[in-house]
Amino acid sequence: MVSAEASQEEEAPPAAGESEFMKCPKCTDTELVQRNVRGKNLAVDSCPKCRGIWFDNAELEAAMSTAVSELHVPDRAVKLKLPCPKCQKPLYMFQYPQTRVAVEMCKKCKGLWLDGGEFKQIRTVRNFLDERGMLKKRDEVPGVRGALLQFIDSAIQNLSQAPD
Ligand SMILES: [Zn+2]
Ligand SMILES: [Zn+2]
Repeated sequence: MVSAEASQEEEAPPAAGESEFMKCPKCTDTELVQRNVRGKNLAVDSCPKCRGIWFDNAELEAAMSTAVSELHVPDRAVKLKLPCPKCQKPLYMFQYPQTRVAVEMCKKCKGLWLDGGEFKQIRTVRNFLDERGMLKKRDEVPGVRGALLQFIDSAIQNLSQAPD
């Protein structure tokens, strides 16, 4: 039985280098598998079990440096007991702009975690708003951050072997 509380005792000391395998923050004992994003110079790490996706900050940075430098955990984000798959620090949860979908982010290494269902919801909500001309183009998602969201949207759509 996997629970969100399970990680307290096991907090691994920060390794000197990164460990080669990252584990799913939700399934804890499942290793993430690297998947390439078609048409982008980007690989993401995905959980074969829950289908969550980890966007490593270094990967995002390489693909979209200007946008990623503005990406940060908002003040109102909620601290979780889930460990960052990369550095084991707690993840913070907040709402993805213009949706009610929660995403998790690490304050330290600034990677981004989306649950398996979450990215579909983001896509659905954003498509819905877009079709009705309701997707705000300027206010909440200005400039480079808006570009980052678009980038993540399209990265998700171009995942090789995308689930269904
Ligand atoms: Zn998982
Ligand atoms: Zn981290």
